Amino acid sequence: MAYQSTNPFTGEVFATFPTTTDAELEQAIAKADQAFKSWRSSSFAERRAVMEKAAAILRAETDDFAKIMTLEMGKTLAEARAEVELSAQILDYYARYAEELLQPQKLDVADPKTGRAVVYNEPLGVLLAIEPWNFPLYQVIRILAPQISAGNTILLKHASILPQSAAKAEDLMRRAGLPEGAFTNLYPSHAQVETIINDPRVHGVALTGSEGAGAKIASQAGKALKKTIMELGGADAFIVLDDADLEKTVKWAVFGRHWNAGQVCVSAKRMIVVDSVYDRFLEKYMAGIAELRAGDPMDAATTLAPLSSQSAADDLKRQLDEAISHGAKAKEAGVQLPNHGAFFQPTVLTDIGEDNPARYFEFFGPVSMIFRAKDEADAIRIANDSPYGLGGSVFTSDEQRGVEVARQVETGMMFVNHPTMVKADLPFGGIRRSGHGRELIDLGIKEFVNHKLIDVVDIDAPF
Ligand code: NAP
Repeated sequence: MAYQSTNPFTGEVFATFPTTTDAELEQAIAKADQAFKSWRSSSFAERRAVMEKAAAILRAETDDFAKIMTLEMGKTLAEARAEVELSAQILDYYARYAEELLQPQKLDVADPKTGRAVVYNEPLGVLLAIEPWNFPLYQVIRILAPQISAGNTILLKHASILPQSAAKAEDLMRRAGLPEGAFTNLYPSHAQVETIINDPRVHGVALTGSEGAGAKIASQAGKALKKTIMELGGADAFIVLDDADLEKTVKWAVFGRHWNAGQVCVSAKRMIVVDSVYDRFLEKYMAGIAELRAGDPMDAATTLAPLSSQSAADDLKRQLDEAISHGAKAKEAGVQLPNHGAFFQPTVLTDIGEDNPARYFEFFGPVSMIFRAKDEADAIRIANDSPYGLGGSVFTSDEQRGVEVARQVETGMMFVNHPTMVKADLPFGGIRRSGHGRELIDLGIKEFVNHKLIDVVDIDAPF
């Protein structure tokens, strides 16, 4: 497995990096462990300064960070710029709140004479972060900002198609003043990842990626008895109720399914539309997709980017073929595609029967599954008929109704009148095969801290 940058728009391989040697791996773990011994005692002011400096660098050099993402995985430059800003906002968030979120908690114990109990939030140590290619910077910052702010140190294993984005993240933190060893990018083989997980100096593993990778890494971590968080795949429901504002709903549906070329864990992958508005929705949705402009992701006019690689496009095609072979009907949107690049024709799938295995697929690209629901209750039933439980949305003109439906959908995040949203100050994570644990806000920063009880007891306390 090579660490290689390939431009998905041109097909050009423009950089290759050697795999980390075993000696380099050992040195990186030792340094991360060493760095932890001092970083754990750093003041919140020191950590805040690093977060603020990193955010300032990102804002000052937005295009540098954005361009390498576009070159390595093909997202539009506009989306890459927005990702840089989102990452800066996450750094800002923890600069501002980490100290407050990690304040010791004095417990309200039943008999105060027998104990003055306080829970302290102490860092665990070296963590391994394994990250996917779809958000080259944001995924790294989402784990880095809270965990570095909590006093942990991190070894990064980024996706093998993003070696330069990964190196740039390490360089960012070095320039922001983080001590050497506190955040190290590696280019390990999958076997070496297991070595890291088994190393006694490593105390936790955070993986964002596919369900398959999650199952493997969680079982390796389980054997080694290491705490994990797993941010895995999803097939978000996008429920359209009979009272939804159809014009606006369709706009969000087109956006929710096609931003980042449809390669988002929380893309609106399953449109579930109640019978009374189904036909009108479908007609408008097809028309909306047809307006997408495929082209050079560096071009501001492009609204449909290539997929991250030709192999991603080939895998998506195989899934689509399987859905069709089991009876689903496919209709292409007719977007004009460039004659090179890993583009995929946006396609809408309907008539996906209860026995069609594709019903439970995660289509990681511009393929929309559309389901006709008899009514609201049926829409909720279809939404919950999924192995995943990441995000989801409900469109209705009645806010309270939206909240009530949202409460019945079994996922980690639900939005009324917006596709699942990603923000610096909202929690992120799912249930079922979408993983476990949460990232961001207070939940994220507390995932890898030792909630340590210290109870000061009167020595004369009765037995
Ligand atoms: P992936 O193939 O699972 O890869 C994710 C990361 O895991 C990469 O760094 C990959 O490295 C590594 N990896 C995979 N198998 C491994 C193994 N056996 N041992 C060690 N490392 C391993 O996922 P992807 O294709 O990059 O990303 C798309 C998936 O991520 C989708 O399913 C998407 O829904 C999910 N995702 C979830 C979230 C969330 O927050 N819930 C966010 C974004 C994406 P290599 O590149 O070297 O294989």
